[in-house]
Amino acid sequence: MVRLRARLARSQTSLGRGLLDLLSRDRLDDDAWDDIEDALITADVGVTPTQMMTEELRTRVKVLGSRDRAEVRGLLREQLLAQINPDLDRTLHTSPHGDRPAVVLVVGVNGTGKTTTTGKLARALIGDGRKVLLGAADTFRAAAADQLQTWGERVGAEVVRKDEGADPASVAFDAVSKGITDKVDTVIVDTAGRLHTKTGLMDELGKVKRVIEKKATVDEVLLVLDATTGQNGMRQAQVFAEAVNVTGIVLTKLDGTAKGGIVISVQRELGVPVKLVGLGEGPDDLAPFDPEVFVDAILG
Ligand code: GDP
Repeated sequence: MVRLRARLARSQTSLGRGLLDLLSRDRLDDDAWDDIEDALITADVGVTPTQMMTEELRTRVKVLGSRDRAEVRGLLREQLLAQINPDLDRTLHTSPHGDRPAVVLVVGVNGTGKTTTTGKLARALIGDGRKVLLGAADTFRAAAADQLQTWGERVGAEVVRKDEGADPASVAFDAVSKGITDKVDTVIVDTAGRLHTKTGLMDELGKVKRVIEKKATVDEVLLVLDATTGQNGMRQAQVFAEAVNVTGIVLTKLDGTAKGGIVISVQRELGVPVKLVGLGEGPDDLAPFDPEVFVDAILG
């Protein structure tokens, strides 16, 4: 996995620098506070957290005697961290239980980076000495299984797949069964992301989960969200979160956007921690999400 800070530094600092510049102005009049709110909204922080932050900042700035840049930075750091909630448990549960592998379900809308994340996560686990098996449960597009197969070959993980149109639950079942027989540590199941009706999605993901649970425990349901789609992507994510019990969020494409504020809105809206972030298309471009490192990268 890559170092979060080094990779974020380039894309995220514009938000932090902009905020620092605004807050360090000689006169913080109403226009300046409007600009600060705009900067936060533009970065996808979300309306409510933006209002909470600006209100708190207004009060705290008044208390500050001088507005030294380092002091303002400290204040902003504290506020951003409070919004990101550093106390949430971000442990990724991927360790086997006795003779049963851990099972990770990867869900989300098509194009968000599910297959890529599945491949990268496999790579990271294999790098830690784990044996990993991948399940291609997106059976609606043959290309999806091909893509996963390519990732499997790239990172050294076997892939269980079936023909296009097969029942996704049966692929998941076979993958977990093979995982048990082959004594693998972690089975990662890549699912289809068709966003049709909520009940359709619930039925489909519910069935995949139930079928896996005949054999093993589903330890993680990771919801993949594309950071560049902003609030629109959030609404889609919400449908998934209602359909299945999500345990963690993977925020992808953070390398291609300055809208890091989505971390704050997504956790707030879904009540689930961001556990991993995607920082590129390569096999090592995945990092555990660390709030302090993230905020420091934003603030430059
Ligand atoms: P899926 O349909 O959800 O499985 O999405 P894919 O895994 O096929 O990813 C869609 C596109 O996003 C591909 O071109 C990926 O290379 C790209 N992608 C995925 N994750 C990231 C990331 O973290 N950063 C960047 N820049 N691109 C990504």
